[in-house]
Amino acid sequence: MATLHDYRMDITPNWCPGCGDFSVLAAIQKAAVNLNIEPENFVLQSGIGCSGRISGYLNVYGMHTMHGRSLAVAQGVKLANRDLTVVCAGGDGDGFGIGGNHFVHAARRNIDITYIVMDNQIYGLTKGQMSPTSPKGFLTKSSPEGNPESPISPLQLALSANASFIAQGFSGDIKHITSLIEQGIRHKGFAFINIFSPCVTFNKVFTYDFFKQNIVNLDDDPQYDSTDRTMAFDKVEQTDGFVKGLIYRKERMDFVDALPGRSGKENLSNQDLQLSADQVQNL
Ligand code: SF4
Ligand code: MG
Repeated sequence: MATLHDYRMDITPNWCPGCGDFSVLAAIQKAAVNLNIEPENFVLQSGIGCSGRISGYLNVYGMHTMHGRSLAVAQGVKLANRDLTVVCAGGDGDGFGIGGNHFVHAARRNIDITYIVMDNQIYGLTKGQMSPTSPKGFLTKSSPEGNPESPISPLQLALSANASFIAQGFSGDIKHITSLIEQGIRHKGFAFINIFSPCVTFNKVFTYDFFKQNIVNLDDDPQYDSTDRTMAFDKVEQTDGFVKGLIYRKERMDFVDALPGRSGKENLSNQDLQLSADQVQNL
């Protein structure tokens, strides 16, 4: 049975003291142990950025690959060995800027991997430029007169791309993000978990205090139905995206099972693909 010690590396992360990414690393480690996954069956794949270093800090297989391409590599790993638990992790610039295209397609493809974004609304590694999730008007080194662009809503983007599991958390609550990561790994299909992970060095607006004061906890809302995609869109809109919990989940066939030759579909023909509107809804 795997222990936290088995997952630990003898390396001290070179993140700034207080960086939110420490909590995400601890939560992934704890989730893997709670799910009793052996380290040799766990892959942590990452891209470029401060958060991209995470794959070097866990005693598992993984690659620290090119900027924005971690999801492409993670999908390749999963297809090559479908028995592995594949988690892909990176930052908002890596995932929604440079790798935005891979994000949309991995989500709609519903490949069975877990994608964790450490969203700090800034490029930290390159010392504080605006990122795809920086709000309009945000002052950074690359936007000294205010960000002229509108930000991406990661949750609404994932909803639009028909991701089958969407959750959001905050680095200030390790217990909660551990639970979200466990749920994401258990989910059969593409699980997206956006985690607000404060950059204490370059982002003085979206701080731990900001999230503690402003984030809405969906777990406290008995009216919220995480199977209702329209409700999910509305909730994200109403809260300006500052919400945490399970945002949306819907079981649908994952990419591997949808491939010809799987699930008894060896003789799939064009006629078989004449699906009714109801069937399409349930895919
Ligand atoms: Fe974390 Fe920001 Fe430091 Fe990078 S620059 S390690 S994101 S606090
Ligand atoms: Mg970032």
